[in-house]
Amino acid sequence: VNRSQREFDYFALSLQWPGTYCRGTRHCCSKNACCRGSDTPTQFTIHGLWPDYNDGSWPSCCYRSDFNEKEISTLVDGMEKYWPSLSCGSPSSCHGGKGSFWGHEWEKHGTCSSPVIRDEYSYFITTLNLYFKHNVTDVLYQAGYVASNSEKYPLGGIVTAIQNAFHITPEVVCKRDAIDEIRICFYKDFKPRDCVGSKDMTSKKSCPKYVSLPEYTPLDGEAMV
Ligand code: 5GP
Ligand code: 5GP
Ligand code: 5GP
Repeated sequence: VNRSQREFDYFALSLQWPGTYCRGTRHCCSKNACCRGSDTPTQFTIHGLWPDYNDGSWPSCCYRSDFNEKEISTLVDGMEKYWPSLSCGSPSSCHGGKGSFWGHEWEKHGTCSSPVIRDEYSYFITTLNLYFKHNVTDVLYQAGYVASNSEKYPLGGIVTAIQNAFHITPEVVCKRDAIDEIRICFYKDFKPRDCVGSKDMTSKKSCPKYVSLPEYTPLDGEAMV
């Protein structure tokens, strides 16, 4: 627990592209977790809402608050659809032990959203609402950027489409030439703002000039659950 960490500066809503996350994996482990063959979402899904500092670093695991799924029972239907776990592994929690993807995000990032967000339910409902209000998949679709295993798109065009829709510059993270994540950032009052971008935009995570939005293609012989 890192209670000494100073208050964050802004939020990043981190959205993941399942076609990239699931590419080349056999993540099929259960009905509700993982890359599910033809059921894999063809839209950006939520990774998490992350409090960040303006210098590119971030606080984590700010106080102990063990994830309790009962607190968000009214949200679970939406969460399974828009915030699915695509990985079979259980992430480690802040305090040792293994937990769920949702629990990991609340304990690692959610607890650092104070004083803007002070409890688990608020963390998840706020994140879902931001996601619904900023439909990146639809913005890209309207601009002609759709899932494809053959097309490459200019990164500049993708960024411009988002700038035109939300009047801010997102952060785009790639795995090789595939878009892995798009992050939309917000002031503490949830008005959109530019993302600071990662500390080192030159790192392997920055995107090339032309990027893809791969469809999910199961590996040969992959069992569909
Ligand atoms: P990776 O090493 O895959 O980039 O990131 C691993 C984890 O570090 C992420 O899942 C997330 O929890 C955290 N992380 C990475 N980048 C950022 C960031 O820019 N802001 C925050 N708050 N967390 C990040
Ligand atoms: P990367 O160097 O790939 O951004 O981060 C590697 C790992 O170090 C990430 O998975 C993340 O968990 C951790 N990390 C990097 N920078 C920070 C930071 O400013 N704060 C915290 N809490 N973790 C960081
Ligand atoms: P972060 O990268 O946010 O620190 O940690 C994400 C953790 O949750 C990792 O341990 C990862 O294995 C697990 N995880 C479970 N489902 C997912 C998912 O759908 N996407 C990502 N990025 N991580 C997931």
